[in-house]
Amino acid sequence: MSHPDYYQILGVPRTASDEEIKKAYRKLARKHHPDLNPGDAKAEAEFKKLSEANEVLSDPEKRKNYDTYGDPAGPGAQVPPGFEQGGGFSFEDIFGGFAGGGFGGRPMRHGPERGEDLIHTVRLGFREAFEGTRLSLRVNRSEPCLACRGTGEASKKQEVCRTCNGKGKLGGGGGFLSFGRTCPDCQGRGTRAPACPECGGAGRHPRQETVTIAIPPGVEDGAKLRVAGKGEAGRRGGGPGDLYLQISMEPDARFERKGPNLYVKLPVSFSEAALGAKVEVPTPEGHQTIKVPPGTQTGARLRLKGQGMPIPRGSQRGDLIAEVAVVTPQIQDERSKELLRELAELNDADVRKQRGHHG
Ligand SMILES: [Zn+2]
Ligand SMILES: [Zn+2]
Repeated sequence: MSHPDYYQILGVPRTASDEEIKKAYRKLARKHHPDLNPGDAKAEAEFKKLSEANEVLSDPEKRKNYDTYGDPAGPGAQVPPGFEQGGGFSFEDIFGGFAGGGFGGRPMRHGPERGEDLIHTVRLGFREAFEGTRLSLRVNRSEPCLACRGTGEASKKQEVCRTCNGKGKLGGGGGFLSFGRTCPDCQGRGTRAPACPECGGAGRHPRQETVTIAIPPGVEDGAKLRVAGKGEAGRRGGGPGDLYLQISMEPDARFERKGPNLYVKLPVSFSEAALGAKVEVPTPEGHQTIKVPPGTQTGARLRLKGQGMPIPRGSQRGDLIAEVAVVTPQIQDERSKELLRELAELNDADVRKQRGHHG
């Protein structure tokens, strides 16, 4: 198998000293560390390349083999699977004495760590969204362990890590191809403090809590409301995460909502539409009278200003828009038919001609 130019990856000359290689690697690894670039696949790939380059160039034997044969494993050697993952770096290799905290993620396990956020979906009816409401939610979250103050450790005294027997790495075996991966329980230190007996080392306890939340009037479908500090407990002194409420609106039989505006269908009789009328329109609060002008057609929109949904964070409201649908009378009796024929004679305009259907 062929190997990339490890010197180029680390940006150092082929004559670079061990110290120069170490420095270059630390600098680049900090920049591309996955914990600082969450979800960034490019940074993750870059970080893997860096780790692999460092793995080879920081090991005198592998570096010599690589320089001589172009292969860190030496002439004709079979590189075991897993090599390309560039495992075997520990947090301290990269960050040294860098006193960080709050990045989250697994390798940060001995600094304060913020708790995870929680998401709950909440279904609201029209009235709750219009008026606003108070909800009581049962939330499965956690709180810091009081016995260890969230550290998960019974004491500061360090013991040999039993997971890796003090080696700091798992797997790999011996010999010059000992890669292995960093022990997850001691982060490669080989020692760890005994686990807190109260929380088993987790640093926190599960807890069900009833959280009361005020939903403001006018909240929209798909909105995310944040309840600060009601997510999972943090670790080792880190703050709690947040609780997010994802709003999902139930459809309403009468009102269709578009942003702050409400749309309502308004059936109007043939004579009301022709002569004009005052008719009742449903509003969120009840009913209101609206004027239908003479000669109103199906599809006409009549607007009631300020009768729509409340706009969150303010006293404004959207509009209520009534969409007219003219209902054609279904005539049975002879007298009405006579009147309509008479009406047709008096109003013999060609309604299709106006729309350019012919002529
Ligand atoms: Zn260990
Ligand atoms: Zn504890």
